[in-house]
Amino acid sequence: MALSNSYRTCPNCGTEIPAEAQVCPNCGEPLPPQSAKAWFKNLNAAEIFLLILGSIMLLIGLVAV
Ligand SMILES: [Zn+2]
Repeated sequence: MALSNSYRTCPNCGTEIPAEAQVCPNCGEPLPPQSAKAWFKNLNAAEIFLLILGSIMLLIGLVAV
């Protein structure tokens, strides 16, 4: 998966569409956000906190073993 690409392919009709598009302009298929940045933007403060906390716990777990 190449996140740096500015284009991606619609999973429904196969049309090349802009990576930032949320809906396919050809068939109207709703598309999940592709970039990690867009995904991160959808998180609220509590989810970001839990994500960071989970990462730290995982890191501690890996170091401790
Ligand atoms: Zn499509």
